[in-house]
Amino acid sequence: MTKSFYHFNPKTLTYEKVKLSFKHLFKRIAWVFASGVAFALVFVWIGFYFIDSPKVKVLEKENNELKDELEYLDHRLDVMSEALADIEDRDDNIYRNVFEADPVPSSERYPLLVEDTRYDSLSRSEANTLMRAANKKADQLTVRLAVQTRSLDTLEKIASSKAEMLAAIPAIRPLKNMYTITSGFGKRYHPILKTLRNHTGIDIAAPKGTPIYATADGTVSRDNPGSGYGICIVLNHGYSYQTLYAHMSKTAVKPGQKVKRGQLIGYVGSTGMSSGAHLHYEVIKNGQPVNPIYYFYIDITPEEYNSLLESSKKINQALS
Ligand SMILES: [Zn+2]
Repeated sequence: MTKSFYHFNPKTLTYEKVKLSFKHLFKRIAWVFASGVAFALVFVWIGFYFIDSPKVKVLEKENNELKDELEYLDHRLDVMSEALADIEDRDDNIYRNVFEADPVPSSERYPLLVEDTRYDSLSRSEANTLMRAANKKADQLTVRLAVQTRSLDTLEKIASSKAEMLAAIPAIRPLKNMYTITSGFGKRYHPILKTLRNHTGIDIAAPKGTPIYATADGTVSRDNPGSGYGICIVLNHGYSYQTLYAHMSKTAVKPGQKVKRGQLIGYVGSTGMSSGAHLHYEVIKNGQPVNPIYYFYIDITPEEYNSLLESSKKINQALS
């Protein structure tokens, strides 16, 4: 059944049947259709923005969980960074102090890292900002760990060479039961030349045949310091140290032989320019004789040291 449309004619005061043209009809249909589409779009838009679908809800939940995980990861990185900072602090202020090494410069520990652009393409959402921050912290931790590992390697090397160096520095008395120094270091009267001369070592009077011990690790020198010293041994310790033991009755080691601190190297005598059985002992640093009294510190009590120090101060006649 087709609908009829009527139009009121005021002139004739009658309703006249109107014939709709095809164009008119089409316009009406198009208008109704467009309105329908517009309403549908408004509803879809409302639904899309204000009512979450179950899938969107699941994704949102996952996203929140990921953010929580990232925040936890960030917190763990902070904890690791604090632990590493504590190790770095101990390294600079304790270990390096003990081994007399300079602290690692902070520019080396905390280099200005080139800003990472790998994540720039990602959007700047909250989760991505957290991700970037965590990645930056992880990069810094990696660098700091590498620097710290290298620092500890260096300290290990210093520690082992330090032990070698300590063993090479004269540190014990060359004679056991040595409590007095017959003649000290410095200006002393020469017993034979009868003049005030620089005494380059200390004299310790002891019976002929008393054992003499190396005061540090070293090698027996092949050089002979001169006839005035009689039977004499010079030990090269390295690290610019030498020790000299003169007027021996005989030696117990050969030139070129390696010796350890405390090893027997010879016996007290009175060979060379000497006025009685004694050991003339010298410590030489960088080619210059230094006072050996400062190089007795391992096997000595404070009382024994004071006694040696007092006896070494007397300006008396050397035994040469
Ligand atoms: Zn002497």
